[in-house]
Amino acid sequence: MPASATDFATLAVERHDDGIAVLSFAVPDHGLNVITPAVVADLAAALDELDRGPAPAALFVRSAREGSFFAGADVARLGGLRNLPAGEISRLCDAGRALFGRLSAATWPSVAVIDGVCLGGGLELALACDLRVATTDPRTALGFPEVKLGLLPGWGGTVRLPRLIGPGPAVEMIASGESVAAAAAERMGLVDACVPTAAALETARRLVEMHRATGFIGARRRRMAAALDVDPAERDFLAATSTAVILGRTGGHYPAPPAILRSILAGTAVDAAAAGRVESDAFESLARTDVAANLLRVFQIGERNRRDSGVESGAPAAVRAAPAVVGAGIMGGGIAASHLRAGFPVTLVDIDANALAGSVSDILEEAAWDRVTKRSDSARALGLAGRLRTSTALTTLAGADLVVESVTERPDVKQAVLADIERMVSADAIICTNTSTNPIARLAESLTRPERFCGMHFFNPVRRMTLVEIVRGPATDDATVAAAVAHAKRLGKCPIVVRDAPGFFVNRVLMPYLHEATELVREGVDPARIDRVARAFGMPMGPIELYDMIGLDTAFYAGLVLSAAYGDRIEASPLIPALVKSGRLGRKTGSGFYRYSGAGQRARIVGVDDEARAALARYALPPRATSDRTIADRLLLPMLLEALRALDEGIVRDGRDVDLAVIHALGFPAFRGGLLAWADTLGAVEVVRRLEPLADLGPRMLPPPRLVALAREEGRFSEPVGGAMPP
Ligand code: NAD
Repeated sequence: MPASATDFATLAVERHDDGIAVLSFAVPDHGLNVITPAVVADLAAALDELDRGPAPAALFVRSAREGSFFAGADVARLGGLRNLPAGEISRLCDAGRALFGRLSAATWPSVAVIDGVCLGGGLELALACDLRVATTDPRTALGFPEVKLGLLPGWGGTVRLPRLIGPGPAVEMIASGESVAAAAAERMGLVDACVPTAAALETARRLVEMHRATGFIGARRRRMAAALDVDPAERDFLAATSTAVILGRTGGHYPAPPAILRSILAGTAVDAAAAGRVESDAFESLARTDVAANLLRVFQIGERNRRDSGVESGAPAAVRAAPAVVGAGIMGGGIAASHLRAGFPVTLVDIDANALAGSVSDILEEAAWDRVTKRSDSARALGLAGRLRTSTALTTLAGADLVVESVTERPDVKQAVLADIERMVSADAIICTNTSTNPIARLAESLTRPERFCGMHFFNPVRRMTLVEIVRGPATDDATVAAAVAHAKRLGKCPIVVRDAPGFFVNRVLMPYLHEATELVREGVDPARIDRVARAFGMPMGPIELYDMIGLDTAFYAGLVLSAAYGDRIEASPLIPALVKSGRLGRKTGSGFYRYSGAGQRARIVGVDDEARAALARYALPPRATSDRTIADRLLLPMLLEALRALDEGIVRDGRDVDLAVIHALGFPAFRGGLLAWADTLGAVEVVRRLEPLADLGPRMLPPPRLVALAREEGRFSEPVGGAMPP
């Protein structure tokens, strides 16, 4: 029992008989503790009270919330920073750092007891304490995710972390934004002990006791306040290697990682007070960039997606606990693996016993992939093996409550398989298809319960692409959509609900981008130049490389479906069947538009395939003047126009889903905020102006009605982040 306790709105301070004071945070109205203005005010008031005395023997800083120390800043408030007058953002950083600095300057020692997530400002608070104890709870993770919002830690993170763990590891941790678990944090010197939750407070007591006599805490405080003694050669080496790594990771598009490196290097050469000023100025500059605003918007539309049930009726999303996948090919295997990874047992059925047997090791390897070690954890794979049930008989689906059909892309085969699945499962099971090109309405024809059927369209490779299109057929009911959306989220995916139409949404906007690239090739533009321009814009790969990666046979088939539906503007390019006929199917066969060293996933581009170039010469078009800017416009504007048409037709529910979809399925650069946010940086009038010289290319370059209206009214393409989902 504490001897006394004082309650504040967001925290409580208990004083115990042994002189220890325990400050416990519990921020109301938030799922996890986040740093709000109330937290700042309460912490200042609590420290004032401790200062008034009697002085505690030590202060333990902890969270009263299970599973979260602090999840970081209240992100909703970051959006307003840009509106503050010049210098004000930097001043706010100084004030926050000064508040936390009171812990490092107190007459008593402090220990952060970290049980659960400890991110951003939460980690800065922990770093301001003299000692840190972290728990082995699997939720405990320490990190600085600010870089993912285009920012850096502004309350002392870039000052204290390098002084504690060294500048190299600090650059890596802050510039990558990746978190570490407690054991790794202990190994790197970020925490002083790593113990089970039940032992955490006792360990904090023991650490204080142990260090009281040794002078360790005083020595550590002096080290944290001084300049870091880094050999200039070592500093130059860190600058050069980190610059190269950062450039490789970001392509030079993200200003935060180089600013983090610069701040840490400059900050270690001076004392902590001066390093703080470097940090504040860097934070203010970053907070005012368009990139930070775009990344914040992307984060917020992602959060909004997490709260969105996918339906407006409020239909309940019944939890699915017994999923099954039919078809053990590239996609079915990936879908099964993502289920195992998310903790589901999964049944996998394939007609072909060899395909089934061959897929198991890949599935287990993928499900047990360790993102930190970049290797599959064999013990974990072994453990998961018992949760993967394989069979060649559909009868094993009897107990399944959600089945994802992912068999060969042939409507007759799919219809037969779907009807068989329906006969095996109970009436309340839902059946989903991973089809890319078949209309949901057509596949539903073979079913007696089409209301329990929808599309669940994953992207390749499933482990990397987070988007899933939940395709609502004409008969699909709300409960099915809601259950599919909720299930996709449990797999860690980002689902968007789309209407049943050729190409659904993602492939429909991808195709104009791919098609325009083939037209540029026909006009004589070097494929490598087209890809370079796309990558310079920020796409993860260019359209020609992407063709080779998808496979030209697959692209040919998808192109046929889309050109049949939208033939006035999405024509099937003659180049693709020509390459397919000559056996050049892309990366998987070692040649497509490019030649590769070897074949398959690991193949590397050697150069443009000259034989392919010669074979394609007969489809040449008259050359046009092409600056890199025009090439970028030709690739990206048709994509934008198609997205606007899809919006007009109600294929996607709103513009925020457009931006989420292109980022999570196509790798559209997040720093541009998505397709519509990027269009806003041009403005509707400028988009129309850039389309004018392209008008002779045909209907694909014609502004759709929504663009014409936006240009007339000077409206915005992207919608504000908040707000209800439209009906
Ligand atoms: P795949 O050819 O690699 O695998 C298909 C599997 O289905 C094979 O193992 C085959 O044996 C099995 N199969 C065929 N008939 C069957 C039956 N009657 N019963 C049970 N199993 C049967 O194909 P994939 O690339 O994995 O594509 C599967 C589905 O996913 C298709 O609908 C495709 O359009 C869709 N899709 C593919 C991609 C992609 O990039 N490959 C992306 C998104 C969606």
